[in-house]
Amino acid sequence: MNKTVICPGSFDPVTLGHLDIITRAAKMFDRVIVAVLVNSAKTPTFSTEERIELLREAVGGLENVEIVSFKGLLAEYCKKCGVGTIVKGLRAVSDFEYEFQMALANKKLNPELETVFLAADADSTFLSSSMVREIASMGGDISNFVPACVHDRIVERLRK
Ligand code: ADP
Repeated sequence: MNKTVICPGSFDPVTLGHLDIITRAAKMFDRVIVAVLVNSAKTPTFSTEERIELLREAVGGLENVEIVSFKGLLAEYCKKCGVGTIVKGLRAVSDFEYEFQMALANKKLNPELETVFLAADADSTFLSSSMVREIASMGGDISNFVPACVHDRIVERLRK
C-alpha cells in the first residue's frame, strides 16, 4: 500500500523541531506532504512564499517530501487530496490538550482521517517558531534551533 501522510503547520519559520518530525515521517511513510497553513485571521512574520521556500531548502535532500500551502479546514483539504493520515509532533503535555481536541474535531469532520503523533526529539521539546522569532529579533544565537542551510536568511529577516 502506498501511504501518503500530511504534516500541517504554520512553519513561521521552520525549526529543527519541525525538520525532525518531517524527516522521521519521511522514513516511516511513502510520501509526506508538508502543508503550510495560510491563515487569513493571523498575519505571519514570514509570508506563505517565504515559509514554503525555507521549508523546500530545509527538506531538500528528502525525495518523498513535498511542500504545499492550504487555506481553510485541514479535514477538507485532506479529503480533497485523498490523504487519510495527519502526522503531528507532540512536544509536551501542554501540546496534548490542543492537539487531542484538534484530532477529535478533524475526525468528526472527516471520519476517514487519522492523526498520528510522534514524540518530539528530547533536544527540541522546548523549541517553537515563536521562540526562534523572539530570540533572533533580539540578536540572540539561533544556530541550534533552525536548519543550517536557512539560518542566515532567517536571521537577516528577523534582525531589527
Ligand atoms: P509552532 O508555531 O508551535 O512552532 P507549527 O504550527 O508550525 O508550530 O507546528 C507544526 C507541527 O510541528 C505541529 O505538529 C507541532 O506540534 C510540530 N512541532 C512544532 N515544533 C516542534 C518541535 N520543537 N518538536 C516537534 N514537533 C514540533
